[in-house]
Amino acid sequence: MANIPTEPIGSIPRPLPLLSAIERSGPEDPALGPMYAEAVKDTLARFEATGSPVVTDGEQRKYHNFWTYSVHGLPNTAPDGFAIPFSAGHVRRMPRLTGGPFRYRRYADAYLEVAQRYTDRPLKQAVISPSALSLMYPAAGIPGYSRDQFIADLLAEHEEEMRRCLDQGAFKVQVDFTEARLAMKIDPSGQLLTSFVDLNNLALSRFSPEDRQRIGIHTCPGGDRDSTHSADVDYAELLPILFELKAGNFYIAMAGEPDRARVLKIVRRYLKDDQRVFVGVVSPIDPHVDSAEEVRDRVLEAAEYVPVGQLGTTDDCGYSPFSDDTSTTRETAFAKIRARVEGTALASARFAS
Ligand SMILES: [Zn+2]
Repeated sequence: MANIPTEPIGSIPRPLPLLSAIERSGPEDPALGPMYAEAVKDTLARFEATGSPVVTDGEQRKYHNFWTYSVHGLPNTAPDGFAIPFSAGHVRRMPRLTGGPFRYRRYADAYLEVAQRYTDRPLKQAVISPSALSLMYPAAGIPGYSRDQFIADLLAEHEEEMRRCLDQGAFKVQVDFTEARLAMKIDPSGQLLTSFVDLNNLALSRFSPEDRQRIGIHTCPGGDRDSTHSADVDYAELLPILFELKAGNFYIAMAGEPDRARVLKIVRRYLKDDQRVFVGVVSPIDPHVDSAEEVRDRVLEAAEYVPVGQLGTTDDCGYSPFSDDTSTTRETAFAKIRARVEGTALASARFAS
């Protein structure tokens, strides 16, 4: 039987008591340590119970979100940076860098090291892309700290984080590149997206072909409070250049697409021989809990276009990329993950040799 691999994206909604405690005393109060540990432990136990062959810590300690966890709390930032408007009407803002040098405050391998204490399953670790963090540098520049210096520091910090995660034994390291589709919305000429891909390729070029088989890229139209930031941008604008990234794996939101066949044809055309595409088969922002049969049919649909040896499945996005997003319950998230795992197995069985 062909084994179609299946992997999560990353985040799982945080337990509500943890969110309340963070609201009361701030995310870094040492007294919250046992609550964070319990959240990670419970997340991994529930992940295992779904049968998921690859698990994550649910990003329980990524505060505030998947985008800024590495820089949250840096003294040389101000809160009025890049704004992401979502279709639900709200805006998420990123920090703005106010002075050099640029350094991460924390690396994601610290999360991985904790998660490994609670599971023997292969663990995926997601990290933020250099292109997302590049938006921290203000358009007006910073006196005495040029954009070129910033980019050099940014690439060094990203490389350090990636190597730490690989060395720590991550089964996959996933670079979150949610701003790819958004880039086409901000700049329809495609120049911004091209500059993002070039920057991320500068980073990926520092890794060996073997490393790159453990490195993946996630792209999606965003997912926060059951809404998106760039679903109106046509994948046809994005996917051809996306597969130019020097990574072995691509995790692409697909379940929420209105015309999947059209997108899958584009994937087939641009996917390279040494790349695997994990297509999203459940949508975290859709409250409907999919049946395993619904998922199976989406996998079989994808297999009509993508060679089964280069196909995998995933969730369209994390279940709460922003830590305070409570629009999905933990129960719903794991029910959808279970459907993904079971539906992918049903589809794999169709390819029995
Ligand atoms: Zn996503």
